[in-house]
Amino acid sequence: MRRERQQQSGVHLGDAPRRAFDRLEQRSKLDGLDVQFIGAAQTVAGSMNLVRTGAGSVLSDCGLFQGRRREACERNRDLRLLVMDVVAIVLSHAHINHSGALPMLVRAGNRGPIDATPATRDLATAMLQDAALIQEQDARHLNRHAEREGFDLVEPLYDEADVLRTLGMFHSVPYGLKSYLTPKIALTFRDAGHVLGSAITVLDLKAGPDPRRLAFTGDLRRRDMPI
Ligand SMILES: [Zn+2]
Repeated sequence: MRRERQQQSGVHLGDAPRRAFDRLEQRSKLDGLDVQFIGAAQTVAGSMNLVRTGAGSVLSDCGLFQGRRREACERNRDLRLLVMDVVAIVLSHAHINHSGALPMLVRAGNRGPIDATPATRDLATAMLQDAALIQEQDARHLNRHAEREGFDLVEPLYDEADVLRTLGMFHSVPYGLKSYLTPKIALTFRDAGHVLGSAITVLDLKAGPDPRRLAFTGDLRRRDMPI
């Protein structure tokens, strides 16, 4: 199965503001391959890995960073600028610390697609809609204080309309089926046993001098537990 992917125009990695990421980002370079562990490095929140190859960039997971309100707002708003040049997004499972920032990318103009197992898509439908509700309630709460104190009003990071657009970009990929993100980047999901639909993400890349296989384990089941 081969599908055409649109290269997103917009802000590229080298131009993006970095301040919120300096402390947490870790990076690994191989021939023709650049992997950035943008989130969940030295923390459990906001998992996000950016794989840049000569054949396009792929984002593996897009989690919402949850921490102190000010730091979380700054970091969550900055991260959408970092990933505007991705040609595909791959989601390991539906938990918000892996999926919760997807609507921000869509709000910022990214048009996916987002590859996930069918069960992850179903779970993400409920979880992202719930997250949008929390974002909107949080913004209303903050703005009540802001109006009283004369501070600037805040906008929610995203709303229900952004979530609906995001869900429309999902593409279901069952376990074990090879799906081509671009002619040179293939994706296969393997069962991770963490929650329904959770997957280990395997990327086969033909972007450098030699073929490479890259696997992101994501969250895994506990030993001797079915899920
Ligand atoms: Zn999880």
